[in-house]
Amino acid sequence: MKATMKHPAPPPPTLATDSDFLAAAEALLGPRGLTRDPELMQPWLTDWRGRYTGRALALAQPASTAEVAALMRLCAAHRVPVVPQGGNSGMVGGATPDASGGALLLSLRRMAAIRRLDPAAGLVVCEAGVVLQHLHEAAEAQGLRFPLTLGGKGSATIGGLVSTNAGGTQVLRHGTMRAQVLGLEVVLADGSVLDLLAALKKDNRGFDLKQLFIGSEGTLGIVTAAALRLLPAAAGRATAWVGLGGIKEAGRLLRRMERRLGDVLEGFEVVPAHCLASVLAHQPGARSPLAERHPWNALIECVSPHEDNAALSETLEQALAEALEAGLIADAAIAANEAQAEAFWALRDGISAAERALGPAMQHDISVPVEAMPDFILAAGPAIEAAHPGTRAVAFGHLGDGNVHFHVLAPEGAVRGIWEEAEGKAISAHVHDLVTQWGGSISAEHGIGQMKRDELARLHDPVALGLMRRIKAALDPEGLLNPGKLV
Ligand SMILES: Cc1cc2nc3c(=O)[nH]c(=O)nc-3n(C[C@H](O)[C@H](O)[C@H](O)COP(=O)(O)OP(=O)(O)OC[C@H]3O[C@@H](n4cnc5c(N)ncnc54)[C@H](O)[C@@H]3O)c2cc1C
Repeated sequence: MKATMKHPAPPPPTLATDSDFLAAAEALLGPRGLTRDPELMQPWLTDWRGRYTGRALALAQPASTAEVAALMRLCAAHRVPVVPQGGNSGMVGGATPDASGGALLLSLRRMAAIRRLDPAAGLVVCEAGVVLQHLHEAAEAQGLRFPLTLGGKGSATIGGLVSTNAGGTQVLRHGTMRAQVLGLEVVLADGSVLDLLAALKKDNRGFDLKQLFIGSEGTLGIVTAAALRLLPAAAGRATAWVGLGGIKEAGRLLRRMERRLGDVLEGFEVVPAHCLASVLAHQPGARSPLAERHPWNALIECVSPHEDNAALSETLEQALAEALEAGLIADAAIAANEAQAEAFWALRDGISAAERALGPAMQHDISVPVEAMPDFILAAGPAIEAAHPGTRAVAFGHLGDGNVHFHVLAPEGAVRGIWEEAEGKAISAHVHDLVTQWGGSISAEHGIGQMKRDELARLHDPVALGLMRRIKAALDPEGLLNPGKLV
């Protein structure tokens, strides 16, 4: 097989096979497990950002791993493509079927049991449909915490988080989803069940197969359960909002805080003045934590399993006072209580919604080496604005991970839905070219889905792409798993 071979598209199922398949699937899953009701299916056929809408043969909602396995055997026999879906909070159209209507939408949401939560071992075994927020609550009830969170935590499921290798706001300290996964259970394209749930600290029996499925966006198998690590609950949390003169200062402050605060530094997010102003204008009741306007702001969070809120706030205050004295920061406010900390985070989490209200924008979830990010922002912003007159480039987010959301806002008066097609695509290609020149990634945490598939093919290393396609062909020879996504 040639490294560059494209995966064969499955033939569209005929009407006869459709009805045979649907009858067999309904017999297998029962009326709760399979629906063709357009009203019930409709909310799941459009992605969270509202950019893609597809059609599906039916919506399957199996209740167990055994049902998923039997369903996959049925799909393989009838050559029915499958689009796995969790909370449908993904950002790249990965869980949305295409317009043909030939694919089965496979929702894991009914598989929402926590099979085992073992405080002594510091691990939890969750089914794929467990919602992130429920996992947080279950861990907290046992004096533990799951160290990954993100704005979509009320919808995002464990299966989706694993399949996108999600990031979020604690990656700086705890890593992405990959770092939390100790084991996986996966149903393969032929319906066999790969049980890799044993959470062994040491296991050198060849390839670490679970890593293949983390971040593979449902193109290699259906994740049905995951063993995840848990940490002791936080004893204290301290959150600060810092005003800065520039993004270079933010980069220097990050390095300083890493050295000064060590392991307790958990989040370091940046928010430019323009984004803060949009949130203040858009979010009811929002207030700026600082009296003055600053060109850039940093949101810093420290969490400790040992120090309480007061002790940790004092440590953070001291570190910031030193930075102020060194002329690195202009001002800072430390949250006085939990409600104020949440209000700081609401300013950060409200950026996307506030920006949507401003008009169309092209969003890019990009990374470059952490230390290069301030220079990248300073170079790429003006380059994009100069090449695409009337646009405004804003970068915000996870500076501590070398990952920002680099959004290019449309010129005033641009019409949503038209501007993206007419100009937006060229802008995205320009941003991705710049990121590639800087040795970065066109997808830091959201994945590729259908949104960035062509860009991945255009820009990724051909050797890496060839290898991904060969792995896909080996695990899914009929091309039935999430066709049209990623590779
Ligand atoms: C407000 C908001 C903030 C967000 N912030 C962040 C952030 O900071 N960092 C970040 O990384 N993401 C973020 N996201 C994106 C999103 O929450 C993540 O991508 C999440 O991992 C998606 O989970 P989901 O269950 O909704 O998956 P879905 O959207 O349903 O699916 C995502 C992908 O995974 C596949 N998939 C889903 N379940 C399975 C399964 N069981 N087996 C195999 N494949 C499967 C789908 O086919 C699709 O390709 C945010 C989303 C929102 C709405």
